[in-house]
Amino acid sequence: MSFDYNVLVINPSDQKPIGACDHEQSFERYVCDFNDFRTLHYAGNTVLNMRAPINGSDAVRMWIRGEEVKQDDPVYGWSLVRDSNRLDAVNSTDQFYKIVFNKPVRLVVPLIEVSYLTQQGYCIKCSAMGVLNDFKVAASGSFMKVTQQAKLAQKGLKWILTSRCAFYPTFVCPLKSFVGKKLGIQLTDTDIANAVTTALTQMQAVQQAQASVQTSFGGNMDPLEMIKDIQYVTAQVATDDPTTIQVAALITTFNGTSVPLSFQMMVNT
Ligand SMILES: [Zn+2]
Repeated sequence: MSFDYNVLVINPSDQKPIGACDHEQSFERYVCDFNDFRTLHYAGNTVLNMRAPINGSDAVRMWIRGEEVKQDDPVYGWSLVRDSNRLDAVNSTDQFYKIVFNKPVRLVVPLIEVSYLTQQGYCIKCSAMGVLNDFKVAASGSFMKVTQQAKLAQKGLKWILTSRCAFYPTFVCPLKSFVGKKLGIQLTDTDIANAVTTALTQMQAVQQAQASVQTSFGGNMDPLEMIKDIQYVTAQVATDDPTTIQVAALITTFNGTSVPLSFQMMVNT
């Protein structure tokens, strides 16, 4: 178990995407226009009305000083109105709305918070990436834990991408020292693939040593968190960018499931 990143994009057990983002924007702060006392402006940039387009009017919720205010509230009721003056859209078809109080609201600087769903291109939650692989909150309220294949993938990438040791330089992965080297002169794609294969083989050996010790102490390593085989490692120059190397690897666990690893690295040409 680990609390770090879930680096897998596809869940190996059900082949579904991991961490797809719902693009929910939570408790964005808004202020009320001090001329008409009705139109809301994004507090972070009061030139704007809504920060982002609304994806589904039913999901819009508003709070004033922590108290939820429904659309039909007799005093603080509000409506969504098309904001046709907004021009900075990601796609020309994106439609912006603004939230407008039905009656003037003359509270002195009230804390207005709005939650809503937006589209991927505007999503702050996933930084428009579409997926969340950072800390996620489980239904219980605590952080979700990364286990089994997801943990193995995380550990493998950590081993490859971050492991350096001045005292045992042969027992870690030199990949970080490759960044920025000239491809074809100081470095080849085969060097990268070999470094990744060596690192994964070392990780496999360490896991097997750990497993033999842990068994005698009554503990057991999860077979889904252990490398059984390294199926392949490839490193290829990206077709659209000669400074990007696409690295992919496939490892199998002791349960027989496959765990894909992939990342890109930049080199000089
Ligand atoms: Zn998102």
